[in-house]
Amino acid sequence: MEVIILILLALILLFYFKSKARKLKNVIKYLTSEEKKILQEKVLFYTKLTNEEQLEFEHRMIMFLNQIQIVPYGCRFEPEDRVLIAASAIIPVFGFKNWQYPNISTIYLLPNAFNKEFQYVGNDNQRNILGVVGQGKLSNKMILSQAALRHGFDNKTDKRNTAIHEFVHLIDMADGDIDGLPESIMESPYTLPWLDLIHCKMDEIEEGDSDINPYGGTSKIEFFAVASEYFFERPKLLRRKHPELYEKLARFFNQDLA
Ligand SMILES: [Zn+2]
Repeated sequence: MEVIILILLALILLFYFKSKARKLKNVIKYLTSEEKKILQEKVLFYTKLTNEEQLEFEHRMIMFLNQIQIVPYGCRFEPEDRVLIAASAIIPVFGFKNWQYPNISTIYLLPNAFNKEFQYVGNDNQRNILGVVGQGKLSNKMILSQAALRHGFDNKTDKRNTAIHEFVHLIDMADGDIDGLPESIMESPYTLPWLDLIHCKMDEIEEGDSDINPYGGTSKIEFFAVASEYFFERPKLLRRKHPELYEKLARFFNQDLA
C-alpha cells in the first residue's frame, strides 16, 4: 500500500514539474535583437524615447506579452506582429507607470479585414472590420487584422492605427462602461468639458469641416478612439489643428508628445 502511495506521489510530482517547466519555457524574459530592430524601424513612438524610457517600454512590452495569448488564424504569425501588438498596447498607457489591462487575455490575428461573422476571405460579404474588442461573448478578446496592424505602423502620416484604436477602447472600457469617457484615466471635473468638446468636434466632422477620420463622427466611443489614434500618430499636427483636443488628450494619457 505504502509503495503504491509513494509511486503515485512521485508521478504527481513529476507531472507537476514537467508542466511547470513547459510553462516557464514560454515565458519571455527579453526582446530578441530582431524584435528590437523592428521596434527601431517601425515604431516611431519608441524611437523618440530616451534610452532609459526605451528600456522601460521594452520591459512593459515583455510583461504584456507574458499576460496574453496571441492566436493567428489563416496567417503566419511573425515577430513583427508580436512587437507591433505589444507596442500598440503600451503606447497609450505609457504615461501610467503601473497600468495593466484588466480586460484582455487573447488576441486573435486574422490576415485581413473581416465581417461580423469573422469571415476574412471573399469580396461580396462586407468584410470591412479591421479590429474589434469585446463585451459579452467577446469579453477579454481582441480580433485584429494583421494587414491593418502592420499598415498602422508602416504609414506614419495618415493619423490612423487600428491596434492603438482597439487598445484605447479597452482603456475606455476599463471603468466598466464603454462610452467615450475614459473614467479610469480622467478626473471627474473634466467630464463635462470633454463631452462638450466631443459634440463640437463630431459636429465639425458631420459638416465635412474636419480632418479627423469621419468614423469618429459615428459615436462618442469611436470619437475617443479615432482622436487618440490621431494624438499618438501625429501629435504636432493635432496640437496645431485642434489645440483644445490635444491638450485634453495629453492630460488624459499623461503624455505631452508634441
Ligand atoms: Zn472602434
